[in-house]
Amino acid sequence: MIAIQSSRHIICPECGNDKEFLEVAEGAVLTTRYIQNSDGSFSQELDDSQILGEVKFYCGECGEDLTQHYSRFLEMLF
Ligand SMILES: [Zn+2]
Repeated sequence: MIAIQSSRHIICPECGNDKEFLEVAEGAVLTTRYIQNSDGSFSQELDDSQILGEVKFYCGECGEDLTQHYSRFLEMLF
């Protein structure tokens, strides 16, 4: 029995977790360009990250593969 809190919630069908999720990019080159400001602080200019492989989406509790929900995750990511 899977409890549906909201149609917008992703809930792990295995353990019911709806709090923690893992995004795993295989073969990713993570490069982020920062500009140092005059006061020594940094600003992120752009994200050069390239995902070369597949991006997987997992339950943070039990590790269930929830990649089928990944597009919805991206829609709800702010
Ligand atoms: Zn789970």
